[in-house]
Amino acid sequence: MFSAPPTRRLAPGPVPPQTAHRMVRDELMLDGNARLNLATFVTTWMEPEATALMAECADKNMIDKDEYPRTAELERRCVAILADLWNAPDPDASIGCSTTGSSEACMLAGMALKRRWAQRNADRYPARARPNLVMGVNVQVCWEKFCAYWEVEARTVPMEGDRFHIDPAAATELCDGNTIGVVGILGSTFDGSYEPIADLCAALDDLRERTGLDIPVHVDGASGAMIAPFLDPDLVWDFRLERVVSINTSGHKYGLVYPGVGWVLWRSPDHLPDDLVFRVNYLGGEMPTFALNFSRPGAQVAAQYHTFVRLGHEGFRAVQQATRDVARSLAGDIEALGDFRMLTRGEDLPVLAFTTAPHVTAYDVFDVSRALREHGWLVPAYTFPPHREDLSVLRVVCRNGFSDDLASMLVEDLGRSLPRLRRGVGAATADDADERRRATGFHH
Ligand SMILES: *Cc1c(COP(=O)(O)O)cnc(C)c1O
Repeated sequence: MFSAPPTRRLAPGPVPPQTAHRMVRDELMLDGNARLNLATFVTTWMEPEATALMAECADKNMIDKDEYPRTAELERRCVAILADLWNAPDPDASIGCSTTGSSEACMLAGMALKRRWAQRNADRYPARARPNLVMGVNVQVCWEKFCAYWEVEARTVPMEGDRFHIDPAAATELCDGNTIGVVGILGSTFDGSYEPIADLCAALDDLRERTGLDIPVHVDGASGAMIAPFLDPDLVWDFRLERVVSINTSGHKYGLVYPGVGWVLWRSPDHLPDDLVFRVNYLGGEMPTFALNFSRPGAQVAAQYHTFVRLGHEGFRAVQQATRDVARSLAGDIEALGDFRMLTRGEDLPVLAFTTAPHVTAYDVFDVSRALREHGWLVPAYTFPPHREDLSVLRVVCRNGFSDDLASMLVEDLGRSLPRLRRGVGAATADDADERRRATGFHH
């Protein structure tokens, strides 16, 4: 008779491969449906050819440049393609690399900023100066991590009124001789809005004229750096701005690849201190690498290149435009239900953030999140950071694969939930409010 193997200890012996596969797959069925997960920015749909390619490359290690020279070449092509998309002065000379995601990319960019500042301030650091990084309070958690791990003071610009991201003047005021850089976000995870990168650079230009402080900008384009080049070509946010020294993006967000791949590029090799770069063997010579990991999967990089080849510029534009169209019409439909006030409507990232209208008192956004979950939809609700802790919102992230049809079903399910919510049925007591807050699962 078959008895199930233990789950938290290694079993004494093997089971047949089909049995192991079925056991694990059956358990994973209970995970949320990735296509109905409107909480995440990360790709949940790829074409079968891309999926097959990733399976074919599952055994390739990104670090083995000498053993897998073509994978290494695909990475370099992707860097050049991104440098061109982001208007680097000389795309073929720009320097950059793949990472496991934007978090690692931001660590690398932050380390380069810190090291360059330390080199300029060798007389004061580390004995007498503590470096700081200036950013909006809406930064993704990876920047808090960067500051904690690399011992940099985080100086954050709070939200104010209906401004839910950085303010260039307020950011500039936080800068001093110990500021390693300012982070600008294209687009904020809280509401999908683009931060005003050009205005931020202009404010810092003005600071230099007034004080001589010359502070570089890093753009965290985890999502927007793969949207703006296709949908907002006239928006100047990238290497066209002298002050922008580095940019990161998540290949696994609007780069349209399954997790985990990210990218970070520097404007020129001068902006990446040489002592942070390590060399590995490559075709009998050496190749520079800059990464936190050593071994790392190569499949995602192959899939990124595949996606570039598959879509081209026009294909990317069409995919991102379709996603933006879905977000904008969804925003209109939700607004038309009458119970909600929209903060953003997919103007920038294809993301909408909304809260309950002032006349709605019987229920709150956390109740809505829970009601939608009963229909299978994962729509997170969360509270804003300082100074807008009074504001709680729902956020929907539209992605490739979230079609008009799915969006209509979401609106129908939301509409169907409203009568019950308006009667206050299903509203939680104060006791389990905290519990609910935790349960809605906001992903930055
Ligand atoms: C998602 C995100 C990150 C972190 O990216 P990962 O690829 O998930 O590591 C950083 N910054 C912003 C603005 C993001 O949206």
